Amino acid sequence: QAKQAGRNCLRFFTQRLQREADYLMQLEQDLRLALAAGQFSVHYQPQISSHTGRVEGVEALLRWQHPQRGWISPVDFIGLAEDTGLIGELGWWVLEQSVRDLARWRQQGHALRLAVNVSGRQKQLGLQAASVLALLARHGLEASDLVIEITESLLMERDDDTQAWLEAFTTQGIRLAIDDFGTGYSSLSYLKRFPISVLKIDREFIRDLGEAGEAQSLVEAIVALGRSLGLKLVAEGVETATQLSRVQALGCDQVQGYYYARPLPADELLFWMTRHQQDIQAGLYSPDEKD
Ligand code: C2E
Ligand code: MG
Ligand code: MG
Ligand code: MG
Repeated sequence: QAKQAGRNCLRFFTQRLQREADYLMQLEQDLRLALAAGQFSVHYQPQISSHTGRVEGVEALLRWQHPQRGWISPVDFIGLAEDTGLIGELGWWVLEQSVRDLARWRQQGHALRLAVNVSGRQKQLGLQAASVLALLARHGLEASDLVIEITESLLMERDDDTQAWLEAFTTQGIRLAIDDFGTGYSSLSYLKRFPISVLKIDREFIRDLGEAGEAQSLVEAIVALGRSLGLKLVAEGVETATQLSRVQALGCDQVQGYYYARPLPADELLFWMTRHQQDIQAGLYSPDEKD
């Protein structure tokens, strides 16, 4: 009886594994064709000064519209793109696309900075600072217009050329931000070793602000750490007015989150910015006067 149940259980388990493997293989195949098929797009989420309420920058976020499955989250395909090496081509496409959009917004009078997520795999796949600088120059933009968001895990790699690779960007004026700060490894020595400018406090900490618990102290500590190192602090995932006023009180420089806007297609962002500008003029956002 127990043996029979065990066998059934195993059978269901292997069936599930098989289905998952099939799904991933299919997804990988689809991913290989998606770029040429024009299924990707870049959305942009505003990064807003917590002092003035003004939009200072945007983060480029990749979107995949699968012909059968609909929108697939980058959480579900970036890893696959990294494992297969497709992130090389895809990551470059994101840079080209977003730099082009930024150049257009600049011409329309919006003084924005662009943040782009770059995976450590792109280093191994040959992404060069020189090519990125040339891309910016082709669109009449400067190195300081771009921020590259990397994760803590890249900085933890025991890999000697990581430092040189990153410095090739920063010595030319491209800034580096650490994404999802606080969720990765706990060694902080890399903050001194690498030329970092920005810490993006992970939304996990922001989410719990205003509830009982350690979130408040943790954010306070991260802000103090960032301050002492001369870094800019960005709060990720701000969804509520309470969270906004907490991160303002704690001294974060910028906020990003659904409270202001979700990541938007380029044309909708422009529309959103115009309206936001009017809201600021109407005095709807005067965060520093609120308290
Ligand atoms: P990330 O770089 O930390 O991006 C922020 C994520 O948080 C985005 O998810 C964004 O939509 C989401 N977010 C922003 N505000 C809020 C909020 O108030 N509440 C909640 N719940 N979420 C919020 P998204 O777009 O699904 O991207 C997920 C991750 O995929 C990114 O995390 C990034 O690690 C990766 N990714 C996205 N685009 C690219 C890309 O072009 N290249 C690479 N290498 N990775 C990318
Ligand atoms: Mg990011
Ligand atoms: Mg993040
Ligand atoms: Mg992330």
